[in-house]
Amino acid sequence: MRDGGADETDVLIIGAGLVGCASAHYLAQEHVECLVVDRGEMNREGSGTNAGSLHIQLRGPERLYSEEVLREFLPMKAEAARGWAQIETELGCDLGLKLHGGLLIAETDPEFAFVREIVEYERGLGLPAETLSTAELLRICPHLSPRLKGAAYSAAEGSANTLLVGPAYARSAQRAGARFRTHANVVATERLNGGGFLVTTSGGGGRAQRVTHPPRPLPAQRRPDPRETDPQRCRPLGERTDQDGRRCAPHHRACHPGQRDGAA
Ligand SMILES: Cc1cc2nc3c(=O)[nH]c(=O)nc-3n(C[C@H](O)[C@H](O)[C@H](O)COP(=O)(O)OP(=O)(O)OC[C@H]3O[C@@H](n4cnc5c(N)ncnc54)[C@H](O)[C@@H]3O)c2cc1C
Repeated sequence: MRDGGADETDVLIIGAGLVGCASAHYLAQEHVECLVVDRGEMNREGSGTNAGSLHIQLRGPERLYSEEVLREFLPMKAEAARGWAQIETELGCDLGLKLHGGLLIAETDPEFAFVREIVEYERGLGLPAETLSTAELLRICPHLSPRLKGAAYSAAEGSANTLLVGPAYARSAQRAGARFRTHANVVATERLNGGGFLVTTSGGGGRAQRVTHPPRPLPAQRRPDPRETDPQRCRPLGERTDQDGRRCAPHHRACHPGQRDGAA
């Protein structure tokens, strides 16, 4: 995976988004050798461009999971809430974390019944959650409609700055020995008979004992996306380039000094 040459690692992490950078951080803390490769820049896709909301409460579609899945999933949410609350201390920097609480609003009686149910469920897991009547909800948010049936409120919810969190994990991972390689597109992973994987990237090949994949499956055989060869073509909405023609987020102040956060 080194440019033009072979490389070896214990864990190959494909994708330097939040999941890849955090995985590298936690593995490196445990002295597990790891290499993170990304086809583009670190934190450039979903992780660096999303709203940054910390959703802890169970949502309607999630309630459709089986009880078995929920029993595994909800403790992870509880653990995530505890993790986010101390993330700035853990990574030793400002991540724009704001735990101002979040609302799950019920517009109908069945939704309010659902809200009551999940509040009970969450409290059972030790998550801070409470049911608000319409009057209590309007005291917090007077601009909402009095026709609403109520809400679930969780003090564990809030937001973080998506431009800061992934890179902070990456810096910490690198300090602990993790390696990062950008502009290396993983095009194939092949399981080896003797164990481990043979990995082929646009910058060369290598071996890894274990491999983690990004959210989408790796393409089997596909035509190259024009954006991979011509960054000026088919740019996503709002995408900007810096003075050197490198792609960057529209609200990345390091690239566009003087521009307000969130301004395109
Ligand atoms: C519009 C929108 C709003 C969202 N809002 C929120 C929110 O408010 N709160 C929240 O918690 N979540 C939100 N999400 C979801 C959140 O963005 C994702 O869950 C999270 O970013 C996933 O992180 P990731 O590291 O798995 O993926 P990504 O950030 O997408 O990173 C995957 C990385 O893998 C790399 N990659 C992919 N294929 C290859 C390959 N073959 N070789 C090498 N590298 C490869 C990509 O270049 C990319 O950098 C939102 C998502 C969207 C789309």
